[in-house]
Parts: sequence; structure tokens; C-alpha cells
Amino acid sequence: MTDRLPGFSTLAVHAGAQPDPTTGARVTPIYQTTSFVFNDADHAASLFGLQAFGNIYTRIGNPTTAVLEERIAALEGGTAALAVASGHAAQVVVLQQLLMPGDEFIAARKLYGGSINQFTHAFKSFGWNVAWADPDDVASFERAVTPRTKAIFIESIANPAGSITDIEAIAEVARKAGVPLIVDNTLATPYLIRPIDHGADIVVHSLTKFLGGHGNSLGGIIVDAGTFDWSKDNKYPMLNEPRPEYHGIRIQETFGNFAFAIACRVLGLRDLGPALSPFNAFMILTGIETLPLRMQKHCENAKAVAEFLAGHPAVASVNYSGLASDKYNKLARKYAPKGAGAVFTFSLRGGYDAGVSLVSKLQLFSHLANVGDTRSLVIHPASTTHSQLDDEAKVRSGAAPDVVRLSIGIEDKEDLIADLEQALSA
Ligand SMILES: *Cc1c(COP(=O)(O)O)cnc(C)c1O
Repeated sequence: MTDRLPGFSTLAVHAGAQPDPTTGARVTPIYQTTSFVFNDADHAASLFGLQAFGNIYTRIGNPTTAVLEERIAALEGGTAALAVASGHAAQVVVLQQLLMPGDEFIAARKLYGGSINQFTHAFKSFGWNVAWADPDDVASFERAVTPRTKAIFIESIANPAGSITDIEAIAEVARKAGVPLIVDNTLATPYLIRPIDHGADIVVHSLTKFLGGHGNSLGGIIVDAGTFDWSKDNKYPMLNEPRPEYHGIRIQETFGNFAFAIACRVLGLRDLGPALSPFNAFMILTGIETLPLRMQKHCENAKAVAEFLAGHPAVASVNYSGLASDKYNKLARKYAPKGAGAVFTFSLRGGYDAGVSLVSKLQLFSHLANVGDTRSLVIHPASTTHSQLDDEAKVRSGAAPDVVRLSIGIEDKEDLIADLEQALSA
């Protein structure tokens, strides 16, 4: 071994994994077991009291899932990570550590449609209030800060239009407000953008998308940057106050720069319960091995398709930050120099009806509500994912009636362009 630090592609294949110590299995096995035998009664007691690390029960941790956690923490440059059953579960678990009933968080308006729903409706019943801000207007985040603000939530590359968020500018607002910045890095993946390098305190992902990458497994993950001081002003009682269920220990004091990941595991996942299946952890780990290669191809294809659409007479406009003419191109060159991702929108001269018709005529593109698959995908957000929003909110979140969203796969780009060509001219 040399003392070189391994590069991203090496980490994508190796981080967190080693040959199985008992069998020699080279690929991380699927530890498909609910529970783990204790060495003796003292060992059991120390595991339950958080005095020792080890496996107890798969709702709290599992060896296959642990490899996935270590790998993504390495790829994102965080201190620790916690995998959960879905991207939405990751969001609930993160905010449960930060907000008490009556508290607020600020979220960017341009978000995955499901997150807009979760924040607006489901979180209301927990007493968590969301204040919306415009990711293109940093001052709108500043204006939204109140004494009850506990966190700021943004997407690095934002759904549905693939716009790029100025992470450093919003991180500065969070720093001044004394609250953590949470970045949903699903559409970028750490291959394109590493939010922690730009000031994020917590990164969340839907592993369901590009990280797993094959459209076969749901999953989510939380990455702790290890940089936030949770003890300041006693704003975060879950991390600071003595925990009665763990003999009065304080999470921040005991676990230092990975306290947030521990709180998510031992207070969030343990009690709320959205554990990832070890089988899904295995599928997602396998996907991550080829993440760099897939992202290169996704981005190359997306750029070619965006250029084709920009020159087509039926197309009114294309929102792809990888195009030199795009209003986010400057931010894309700063934050995502390797490629601007593979999810973007375009609008049709024929409006809502043309959007619905295009979706029905495409053959190679699958019409469905997902992104980040090897296969190319299409959806008309106004009639599906964003249909619950009123017209003004649709426009504000980038899902106007004439907008079509694409997630470009890793097929041959000529075939993707030919399919769009026939559907647009039909
Ligand atoms: C899909 C998605 C989510 C939700 O993830 P699930 O795994 O479907 O729960 C959150 N954020 C973004 C950006 C997504 O694309």
C-alpha cells in the first residue's frame, strides 16, 4: 500500500468493504438476519447502553448496511452516515433530531414534488412548520429566518428543472442563523457535487435514484459532515439533553463529530423504524461500484439530448444547466464541472396537450414517476407529480403545464434522439 489517498472511483468500489472475515467472500454478503447473538450478558448490556459498538437488531444496524453507510460517508466526505428505507424516511429522521413541535425550517421552493407534500402536509401533524424560500434569491432565505428556525433544506441540483443551487451562499445564511444546512444531493450524487465541500452540515439522498442507479431498490441515507456545534445555545435538545433511554448520556458530548449520525440511528431509526432491508443495501452497493462510469454517460447523453431539443421547432425552451445559454450555466460550471446531471425539463409550444401527447408517443422512454435509472424516463409533472399544486405553485416550482421532465439514461444517445424526433413530429 502507498500512502496515496484513494480517488473517487476507487472509493466507489472499495470504501467500507473487505473480504468477509469468516468465509473470505469477496463481495459484501447479504446478512439477511434480524438479530445478532451477544458474546455474554455484559456484552449485551454494553451494546444496549451505547458503551460499545456492535450489532443488536437489524432495525438499528446491519453489517451489509454498514458497508453502504461507510461507503457513502467516504464518497461525500462526511464523518458517518445512516441508511434508511427511503429518501423520504431520511428526511423525517433528520428533522426529528432538529425540530420540536412549534419549530420551523426553511426549505427551497424548488424541490422534488414528494418533498413539497411531505413538508406541507405530513409534517404539519408533527407541529413542524415549513417556510418557503426561493433558491434563486438568497436574500429570501435570510428574510425567512425567525427565532424558531432550526434548519435550512435545499436540493443541490433541484427537481424538476435541474437548476443549480448556490450552496455556498445559502450555507452562509445558515451559518449566520446558527442552524445546519441540509442538502438533498439525490440528483447530483457525490460524483458531480459534494455539498459538504461547499458548507453543508448534513447531506441526504434518495438512494433509489442514481446511487442505486438501476431502478430496482428503494433506499435513503443521511450523511453527517461532523462540522456543526450542536451544543451552542441549547437549541437542539435531542442532541444536548441527557437521554433517559440511555442512562442519561448526552449524544453530542459522548459522540463528538459524528453525534448527528448517532442521534439519527439511536433516537430516530430505532424509534421510528424505517430500516433499510439488507437486500436493498446489497443492490445499492453493487450499483455504486459503477457510479462514476454511469454518471459520465448520463451527463454526456443528457447534454446531447438537450442540444437536440434546443434546436427543434416544436420546443419552446430547454432548461438544462449544461447548455452554455442556460441561466444556471455559471453555477453549473462552478458546482458541477464534471457534468450538469441528467434530469431536466423542456417546454413545448403546444402547451399542456402537447405534453400529454408527447409522453404517450415516446417508445424507448418509459413514462413513469422516477429518475436516475439506467433507462431513460419521461413524465409530464403538471398532470402527475406536481398535479396537487395550484397553477401558480406549479409555475414557481418549475412544473408549468407545458413542461416535460426527462431523466436521461445510459442507452445510445442516437436512439434517444430518434425516439424524441418521432414523438415530436407525430
Ligand atoms: C425521489 C426523491 C426523494 C424521495 O426519495 P424516495 O426514495 O422516493 O423516498 C427525495 N428527494 C429527491 C430529490 C428525489 O428525487
